[in-house]
Order: sequence, then structure tokens, then C-alpha cells
Amino acid sequence: MADYSPELRKDPISGRWVIISSARASRPEVPEPRREEETPEARDRCPFCYGRESMTPPEIFAIRNNGDGGPNSPGWLTRVVPNKFPAFGIFPEINLRRVGMFQMATGYGAHEVIVESPEHSVYLEHQPLEQITRIVDSWWERHIDLERDPKLKYVLIFKNHGRAAGASLAHPHEQIIATTVIPDVLKGKLLHAKEHWQNGEGCIWCRQMEQLFYYENKIYNPDGSVLVQVAQRDRMIVENEKFIAYIPFAARMPYEIHILPKEHRHSFIQTTPEERFALSSILKTVLMKVYKLLGNPPYNFYIHSAPNLNVRPRTGDYTTIREDFHWHIEILVRTTIWAGFEQGSGIYINPLNPTDAAHYLAETEVD
Ligand SMILES: [Zn+2]
Ligand SMILES: [Zn+2]
Ligand SMILES: [Zn+2]
Repeated sequence: MADYSPELRKDPISGRWVIISSARASRPEVPEPRREEETPEARDRCPFCYGRESMTPPEIFAIRNNGDGGPNSPGWLTRVVPNKFPAFGIFPEINLRRVGMFQMATGYGAHEVIVESPEHSVYLEHQPLEQITRIVDSWWERHIDLERDPKLKYVLIFKNHGRAAGASLAHPHEQIIATTVIPDVLKGKLLHAKEHWQNGEGCIWCRQMEQLFYYENKIYNPDGSVLVQVAQRDRMIVENEKFIAYIPFAARMPYEIHILPKEHRHSFIQTTPEERFALSSILKTVLMKVYKLLGNPPYNFYIHSAPNLNVRPRTGDYTTIREDFHWHIEILVRTTIWAGFEQGSGIYINPLNPTDAAHYLAETEVD
């Protein structure tokens, strides 16, 4: 029987603390999939459906069938357009200013939308595997292209699924934001990863994977026989040839899921076509499990890669980044709400033990 007294756990990569308090935990009742409400008018105005290509700014990238009508007309399979209400834009120069203690800069950057398919109501996990691969390939094409601009230090690909997770348009899509600053969340991770490497402990993600697969925490009897053996593998959800999906040791939410490539690489842009196919496959499996176990909950995911290495680094900043940073995807399923304590302290209360969460997902059958 597991011990269910609250436990404080530290995430070695972000350095943040989490309280795992599973007293209230029980196996979830499998709910009916929730439907996102949408008015017929909203659907009729959807700018991401076939025939409404003129409602978006002109497309930046598309994967098309042969013999269709050409750019900005129906026939595309995936389509990337600038965000109509961008958080950032491309300007001739970056203007840095200071007013007293405040710093400002031109909102230079890119903000794009990847429309997953012409299908208005088919979720990512329900797409056929070959379409998910086209979607993942589209992220990759845009990520590579944005890194050609040496002013853009960081490219973040993310998805909001469901209104409660921030999706304002129902038609399934992802977004890419590229910025001239490295986001704080990444700075913390980069720092811890570099420290870990410089201490001679190798890549912090490779080490975690090793621990997840091979590490056996054994306590021995005086005669040398094993008294207690703690398997770490129990936070695994699923794996394929190239990727693993697991619940991290210090998960912030019951269903925080990380997807990690088995081969060490610092950025999503280094993936091969085979790896992107394997990624599409594990993403489909994991999201289907979430859909089935939790009934289409809102979720977010994002890809964490190393910063753009085409940017001339300040001395010493990125000397070991290719070795010390390991790209990955983090999925946050919105089953809990972060309230005052989380906002005020940066410490998260997770009401479900990561081992139990991983079991529930691992046992959920999808075909
Ligand atoms: Zn639509
Ligand atoms: Zn690694
Ligand atoms: Zn991360």
C-alpha cells in the first residue's frame, strides 16, 4: 500500500516545489466526453474553414494536395497564417527605451497560427496518423524558418484545447510565438540544466530517463537479500521506439504529462522525419488516453527547445547547451485550478500521486 501522507517534492529542472497530497485521490469516474459549446453563427464565421481563406492574413506556409487552386484557396491540408491579433510583429528595428526603472522594447517577434486541417470539429487526437504527421511537420517547418531571423531568440510552439485552456476559436489549431527575449520559465531550466552538466552529472533529462527505466532503489537485509525495491518505472505511461511519455516526479497537476525523445537532442528542429512520425504516434496515443479517461478535458501543451543558436550568444551562455538541454513536450491537462496559494507562492498542490495518475493513463485502452 502506498503511503498517502502529503509529500513535498522538488522538480530538479525548474527548481520549483510541489506538494503531492493524495488524500482525496480516487480513481476517476470516466465521464462522458464534454462538448465545447459553439453557436451556429460562430461556426459560420470560422476563418479556418475551407472557402474563408480571405478572412485570414495571407498564408505563410501550407501543405496541399496536388492540383488544387493554389495559395489562399481551398485544397490545403494544413495551413499557417499570421495571427490576426498578434502579440508581436516584425518591425524594421528594435527600439529599446528606459523610463526611470521601467524598460520597454518594440514588440518585435512573430505570432502565427497553424490550422490543423480543414475539419472544423475533428480534434488532434482523432485525426489519422498521417494527418498528425503533416501537422507536426508544419510546426517543424515554421520553427526552422523563424530561427533564420537572428533577432528571434526563442520560438515557442503551443496549443490551447478547449475554452477553459484559452482557445478562443473552436477550429483546432496551434500557435507559434517567436520573441527577442528568452522567457523566464526557460531561463530557469537552462540554468539548472547547465549546472547539472557542469557538475559532471550529464544531461538532466537523460538522467531522469535512465532513472525511469533502470534505476532500482533497493534496501537490503543484513544477509544481502532485498528488503524493499522501489521501481521508478511506475510513472511511465507509454513508450515507442523513439519517445517516452511519463508523469514527472514533481508534477504540478494530476495529469501533467511529459513526452521526451529517447535520443539526446537540444531542439525539436533536429528531429528526423522518422522521429516526427514516432512523435505524432505517441502524441495521438497520449491525447486519446486523456480524452477517454477524462472525457475531453481542456488542456495545453508546448514544446520546449533550446533557444535559437543562430543568435550570437553572449560569451559563455550557450557553450554546453547542445549537450545539457534536451527538448521535450509538456502537456498540462486542466483538471485543477491554480488558486491563491499557487499564484502567491509558486508552490503547486497536486491532489493526485504521479504513480496513480500514470497507472490510470497506462491502463486506459486506445486503439
Ligand atoms: Zn472552422
Ligand atoms: Zn539528454
Ligand atoms: Zn520544459
